[in-house]
Amino acid sequence: MIGSSVAFRTRSWTVLFLGLLTAASPAAFAAECPGHPGALGTSRTLVVDPHLHPRIGTMQYRETLPLKDHEVVLTFDDGPLPKNSNQVLQILADECIKATFFIIGEQAKANPEGVRKLVAAGHTVGTHSMNHPLTFDRMPLDKAEAQINGGIEWTSAAMTDPSKLAPFFRIPGLMRAEGVENLLISRGIQVWSADFPADDWRHIASDRVYQLAIQRLEAKGKGILLLHDIQARTVAALPKIIRDLKARGYRIVHVVPATADQPATPTAAVEWLLHPPTETTPIARWPSVPNFVFTQTASLPAPGLADLNTQTAHQPLVLPRKTMAQADVAATLPAPERDLFAIPEGSVEVLLSTTLSRRAATRLAMAAEAPHAGKGKAAKMQPRRTAHAAAHPAPKHAAQAKSTAPRPTRVATGVKKRA
Ligand SMILES: [Zn+2]
Repeated sequence: MIGSSVAFRTRSWTVLFLGLLTAASPAAFAAECPGHPGALGTSRTLVVDPHLHPRIGTMQYRETLPLKDHEVVLTFDDGPLPKNSNQVLQILADECIKATFFIIGEQAKANPEGVRKLVAAGHTVGTHSMNHPLTFDRMPLDKAEAQINGGIEWTSAAMTDPSKLAPFFRIPGLMRAEGVENLLISRGIQVWSADFPADDWRHIASDRVYQLAIQRLEAKGKGILLLHDIQARTVAALPKIIRDLKARGYRIVHVVPATADQPATPTAAVEWLLHPPTETTPIARWPSVPNFVFTQTASLPAPGLADLNTQTAHQPLVLPRKTMAQADVAATLPAPERDLFAIPEGSVEVLLSTTLSRRAATRLAMAAEAPHAGKGKAAKMQPRRTAHAAAHPAPKHAAQAKSTAPRPTRVATGVKKRA
């Protein structure tokens, strides 16, 4: 007990220390944002190599960015559209936040200045196709490639330095297709999905966008947030989202592609999973579910009483349920009268033919026709036995009647599933 108490105190101090660190961090970031003392800031830059982790975002893929708990990456699609994109740029600048933008070729063609502003502000710029068709999952690969190329050409053409274009691509509408992804990957382009959207393309109130962004982030604890800088509701929601991120202790991470001068941030493979398996999640070490084969079911024998674990008071759920033989029938049901089982005269043949095999029925019927012929089983089932039975009291216990009653049918499935 003393040992655990000490351990608890040690943990408390660790938590307190970490808490102080967390509390201190925003102030440190704000110091890097001149003129904006309350800014959220950008906590760190993550350098990624698309060749090593070509598909990211748990909305669609196994891997996502190697973020620590409470780290968030902001992404904006479909711009630039001056009216709203410029406001988003200003909001981010006021908070010293660096984000990633996925540009549509047509938008870059119409508003190249918007692309240059993004680069000048230090944001990461990837592409999002030429004109945003929502058919990437079914269009021919050559058309998909033309869409990808158009977006890259017009976005890089808008830049003063085309080498600033990141090899990041987000498929419009996240309409993923294996062929498209493989094409992008073969060209060293990283396919970006997201970890959660805020539904800001839907006709919902900006307050709802804010709520969804925070709720979904809180549910995962970290991740890539998908937003759209062309939406007025996103412009309205963004300041509130940022305020809340800061209040809840979240930190912004800026993602950039690895280059010859800037190698990828060292990471372990397991960090690219949203929730890596830990010692506290034993299910991660559980063996895979065995592949049952039921094709032999018909040939399996019915279980005997020994299989039903009759002596075991505590039975696991997987064992067969109690049969009538196990249940205390006598305590709840009246014993049947003996004449309930009496067979009316002349009906022996009809009854037997429906309950026994044809050969057995024939044999017994023949015996019934010659009542005094022998001492076989059939002879014992003559009508005179009915009269004899009526003269005696009914059996007192169900166990006695049980031998007369048909045995309950046993089903083998319960036992089989234990395999
Ligand atoms: Zn889009």
